Amino acid sequence: MPVSQHEDCIFCKIVHGEIPCTSVFESEELIAFLDISPVNKGHTLLVPKAHMETLFDMPDDIGQTLLAAMKQVGTAVMEATGAKGLNVVQNNYPVAGQQVPHVHWHLIPRFADDGHMAWPQGAYQDVQEMAALAGAIRGKL
Ligand code: AMP
Ligand code: ZN
Repeated sequence: MPVSQHEDCIFCKIVHGEIPCTSVFESEELIAFLDISPVNKGHTLLVPKAHMETLFDMPDDIGQTLLAAMKQVGTAVMEATGAKGLNVVQNNYPVAGQQVPHVHWHLIPRFADDGHMAWPQGAYQDVQEMAALAGAIRGKL
């Protein structure tokens, strides 16, 4: 089946072989290659071949395929790098840090004392504020 391509999308160009990548995995629906600017060496991007901008544009039924590939490639990344952990990160929209508007998952191998801190964590004013926000979210489901 032909894969949809978006003009000027760097990941579509990689999927269609128009620019090179350091590939580690490929299936009918997905490709994985090394991130060119790794957080740690072995940092891999898992990318659906079809052009979709964010998570919210994806069909639900790719979920099983995606999770299986995430586990398979993530395990290989950990074993090949000797990592003791793996962060799976996915950014949606520029304000969340998405630089490439073609949905993808970062598989980042982690090592003890690699210097990459977790996100700083905040606090709610009180339990009422927390409950109100949870209610607002439930109300949108
Ligand atoms: P994000 O900020 O979540 O959109 O992540 C985009 C990632 O793509 C960044 O970590 C970049 O280093 C990476 N990247 C951009 N261009 C390429 C490329 N040609 N090959 C491999 N990785 C790339
Ligand atoms: Zn694309």
